[in-house]
Amino acid sequence: MKRFALLGNPNSGKTTLFNSLTGSAEYVGNWPGVTAERKEGSYKKCGEPITIVDLPGIYSLSPYTPEEVVSRNFILDEKPDLVINIVDATNLERNLYLTTQIMEIDVPMVIALNMMDALTKAGDKIDIKKLEEKIGVPVVEISALREDGLDELMRVAYEESKKERKGVSVIEHPELCHLIGDVKIALEAQKVDNPLFHAVKFVELDELEMEMHQNLVKMVDDFKKTFSDDTFGTDFDAIIADSRYKYITKNYSSTLKRKHVGVSDTKSDKIDKVLTHKWFGIPIFLVILLTMFHLTFSENFLFLGGILGEDFVSLPGTAFEGVFGEGAIYSPGVILLNLMGVFTDWLFGLIGGLFSNSAPWVQGLFNDGIFAGLGSVLSFIPQILLLLLLFSILEDSGYMARVAFMLDRMFRRFGLSGRAVLPMIMGFGCSVPAIINTRTLADEKEKVATIRVIPFFSCGAKLPILTAVSAAIISYFNFTSSPDLIVYSMYVVGVVVAIIAIIIMRGTTMKGETPPFIMELPSYHMPQFKNLMIHLWDKAKHFIKKAFTIIVASSIVVWVLTNFTFGWAFIEDGNVDNSILGGIGKLVQPIFTPLGFGSQLNANGWVFIVAAIIGLIAKENVIAAFGILSACIAGGAVSSEEGVKEVVTIIGATGISWQGAIAFIIFNMTTIPCFAAVATAKAEIRDKKTFSGTMLFWLVASYIASTVCYLALSYWWTAIIFVAILVITLFVIRKINLRSKKV
Ligand code: GDP
Ligand code: MG
Repeated sequence: MKRFALLGNPNSGKTTLFNSLTGSAEYVGNWPGVTAERKEGSYKKCGEPITIVDLPGIYSLSPYTPEEVVSRNFILDEKPDLVINIVDATNLERNLYLTTQIMEIDVPMVIALNMMDALTKAGDKIDIKKLEEKIGVPVVEISALREDGLDELMRVAYEESKKERKGVSVIEHPELCHLIGDVKIALEAQKVDNPLFHAVKFVELDELEMEMHQNLVKMVDDFKKTFSDDTFGTDFDAIIADSRYKYITKNYSSTLKRKHVGVSDTKSDKIDKVLTHKWFGIPIFLVILLTMFHLTFSENFLFLGGILGEDFVSLPGTAFEGVFGEGAIYSPGVILLNLMGVFTDWLFGLIGGLFSNSAPWVQGLFNDGIFAGLGSVLSFIPQILLLLLLFSILEDSGYMARVAFMLDRMFRRFGLSGRAVLPMIMGFGCSVPAIINTRTLADEKEKVATIRVIPFFSCGAKLPILTAVSAAIISYFNFTSSPDLIVYSMYVVGVVVAIIAIIIMRGTTMKGETPPFIMELPSYHMPQFKNLMIHLWDKAKHFIKKAFTIIVASSIVVWVLTNFTFGWAFIEDGNVDNSILGGIGKLVQPIFTPLGFGSQLNANGWVFIVAAIIGLIAKENVIAAFGILSACIAGGAVSSEEGVKEVVTIIGATGISWQGAIAFIIFNMTTIPCFAAVATAKAEIRDKKTFSGTMLFWLVASYIASTVCYLALSYWWTAIIFVAILVITLFVIRKINLRSKKV
């Protein structure tokens, strides 16, 4: 089977092209560095199936970054049948820099000139025939997004892959050309593959290359003694780069006809003057986030409650009572949640009816076990998807790349670069791809520190915990504020915990250089409907798959353990305090007393600990467990409307305080993440000790964060003590570091 590799600059549209060609739904992000590992898929419309490999985006083939190493090694070692070099037509000259390097490898290639739609829209033109002639490889115009020209691209690529191609160099510097020629002959004598490419890299004094061909080092050294360039001295690397750019300007630039000559502020620049403003940038971001949370979680949409008066849309007596609002209009997210609740109630009621003649334990297992668990999780899916959709819009428009850029300014002071910020932002969706993305961090310690804080950026699966518990607090304690504010604050607390943890780690066990962060900001564009839908569908699929596998299985286990005693007697009177789960829960309950959900609670108080432990398998399990436990405690499923009522039941039954309930949210947000994330972290960290340290870190961090939160909320003056301890700790770390630097 033939294999074609996609190679191009970050953000040139590789993944979009990959998805279009293979029908996959890989992550397309409007920021560089999203594809940290290679992905494979197959294209079926040619004479034979073709494997397409999406490689990480790179600017050059010198091994400076992990992405460059991955992409370079793939092309050199695994020898694809052809390279599709994807070139962003709106950034022609800079993208061709990589092209001139690929041209040196003995591999067939075609150039896919992407983003032609955007180029045409800007009124610019590229003379394709002329460009093709100058470069000497086929050039095909495409728009990966619109799926224009893809068949033509693959047809040309397939034809081309049957031919051989020898590498050619564009370096015209007379003396270096001579040296490259000599090195190439020496390499050919040693039967090295791709002699021209290696010769050029060798003359650039590329480290990998010097190691590989030590016997040639002397030759270059001798040459160096006789050589000096006017501008760059003996910096071969720079001379060669300069030579490539000169060639590009001389030969290729003339093929591009711009409509507007001269530099003027583009639209993106104008928007950026406001959105990435030195002082207002971050506050604007916070307001945007708050708006998103309002849209998703508010029970007083646009604060219309005061204007419209009581019970505007509560629809009493109908099946939709309290779905659209009560006392005020609910936000779209809450309405979706309620509608889904009505639907799952109806559905499971219908199915549950089928069991009405079965034995009590069968009814219990289905109604209070599986349906209660599944119902409370499923009802959150539309709401979660809405929030993730809003995040995707921010990302696809190009705004999130700006956020990384702004946060880089802030995080740099704490010892992390903006490169580490990108995976953190991805963590708001799911920790697993976020942790994989830390591969783009070259510094091992920076990588470990980043992996550790990623779970603090609350993921989609943790959202039901945040929403249900927040809404239940508001409802049970009759607070006048709205759940969106609690959810929003929880997100902010997560980020603050992350920042504190980073400062401490980077000052103690995870010290290291903060590498510079160079990121080109993609220009803003309208979010693409197709990309958004790919993201959403991907998420929805993931949630539903999880619901019907892990969550159903865990629900059954939870139900069994709450309904049988240690003597395997079925509990019929709802006294689940005597159950197996109750026994285990009560054993560890005292440990959680400082956190507000330990021994101070009434009977059944162990449910919080049990829920948190089951949440280690998948975070949705926490709410599923609440659904089941509330059904068991109340002796029959509580209307699963919103999945919120169940938490209300639990709060009532256990007598937890609102401070304790908030500490419970924080605990779940900051403790060991779900199983999948842990496995990913283990694979990425590799070093066993560091990994164990990471698990311990999560436990300790969550214990401290929740305790501080519980105490500070219960006794406001304790906050002063905690702030003082924090300041002293940071001060001491700084002092010690300064002293050790002097020595
Ligand atoms: P990668 O980093 O090379 O994998 O690039 P992506 O596939 O993630 O795309 C980066 C951005 O460019 C995304 O926001 C895409 O929607 C956008 N994009 C990709 N192809 C096209 C295209 O043909 N036209 C336009 N206008 N935008 C595109
Ligand atoms: Mg990509």
